[in-house]
Amino acid sequence: MQRISVFDIFKIGVGPSSSHTMGPWRAAERFLYELEAAGNLDSVASVQVELFGSLAKTGRGHGTDIAVLMGLRGEDPASCDTRHVGHVIRQTEMAGEIALLGRKIIPFDPAADLIFHYNRSLPFHPNGIRLSARLDDGSTVEGTYYSIGGGFVVREGEATGEDEITAPYPCMSAAEIADCCHGHGLSIWEMVRENERAWRDDVTIDAGLRRIWGTMADSIYRGCHADGDLPGGLRVVRRAQHMHRKLMDVATYHDRDSWIEAIRSRPRTFQDTVKWVSCFALAVNEENAAFGRVVTAPTNGAAGVIPAVLMHFVCAHQASEADSLRFLLTASAIGGLFKTGATISAALGGCQAEIGVSSAMAAAALTECLGGTVDQALMAAEIAMEHHLGLTCDPVGGLVQIPCIERNAMGAMKAITAAHIALESTPQNARVSLDAVIRTMWETARDMSDKYKETAEGGLAVQIPVNVAEC
Ligand code: SF4
Repeated sequence: MQRISVFDIFKIGVGPSSSHTMGPWRAAERFLYELEAAGNLDSVASVQVELFGSLAKTGRGHGTDIAVLMGLRGEDPASCDTRHVGHVIRQTEMAGEIALLGRKIIPFDPAADLIFHYNRSLPFHPNGIRLSARLDDGSTVEGTYYSIGGGFVVREGEATGEDEITAPYPCMSAAEIADCCHGHGLSIWEMVRENERAWRDDVTIDAGLRRIWGTMADSIYRGCHADGDLPGGLRVVRRAQHMHRKLMDVATYHDRDSWIEAIRSRPRTFQDTVKWVSCFALAVNEENAAFGRVVTAPTNGAAGVIPAVLMHFVCAHQASEADSLRFLLTASAIGGLFKTGATISAALGGCQAEIGVSSAMAAAALTECLGGTVDQALMAAEIAMEHHLGLTCDPVGGLVQIPCIERNAMGAMKAITAAHIALESTPQNARVSLDAVIRTMWETARDMSDKYKETAEGGLAVQIPVNVAEC
């Protein structure tokens, strides 16, 4: 039975893209671990990496070249020092070599050994990456992988990259979630926790969820206190810090947790709420664009929506840490539905698959955490996605900055709106189900022109003249 864990949906990593950064990073690492398991790592004389389709077209803007080198070095995206990530290309060029998994040194020239096939795609998925290693005896070992969205990677011939486990409630649709929860008297987050127990015990689940929420909160905090231009050459100026300074006129905090307490204790108008939520979302995605540490939620490009709505829940509704963990569990159930029933890959479905899915996840989680029923939570996810259907992916300069950063603020506000509409609604009267919206999203994805699927060949990407300089 295939199941997706909350820890598959929420993965700690490095920006700017789950499919174009985290996926290739993991693919490169995985290729070397496979070589190591076969006893071949110490015999590697050279390595060549080929990027296909969307990975080639927007790869440089998304840091795919950087990610591949980090993966070849065996760096862990969840714990590596992110301050050095942006310099890895130049470091490798200057050294003329790379240490595979940090120990097997081989000559490597990024200009020659990292090949971007701008006009070639592999058949299975637009995000293809092929690695080949020449061994000392003259033989070659090759591996082809696909980055299928949200940091998930599959090897050629594998099915989905999901774990094969037996979960007690293996729901594959919103209708099944509703039936399961009603039948067993569970909320969505309780059902997800029961499933998680098939992998790990409660102590491990809670520790993992706390680490995810802590990383999300850290990314908001860092983004609210960082200024300057974002990397990539578009000269996009960070705005979260400026907004934050105006909102937090007097600094009465000394670290992240006292900062959260300071925000919680402030009186808030409707206008303040909009500004705070926007500020939180901008902060995360500015960090993401700057190769900072974020959590895929369910992707990096959409990494700001769920943290922004969750931080809003924590600050405006005085939510406890336990509430935050429940929020993440519920959100992951909705992300899993979209992953199995449609896609969370912008290269397959455009931005509806990123921002739309994250907004639906956040809407359901906020609804349930504010006391909504299971049906109201599913309805909130449906409302949030309904108003993202058809959203295209057209990143200017191939960078995850315009329209991506602001789009997270929009996704977060739509999620909050959807939650409050659902909380005031009777789901039994709804004419559109979440399952219908997931099917519609997938059909829309298949009808969408490839220009709008993370290729930077349509929309804003061709309307805005850019002269992106390497930096
Ligand atoms: S436009 Fe949307 S899907 Fe495309 S890179 Fe930006 S956030 Fe991701």
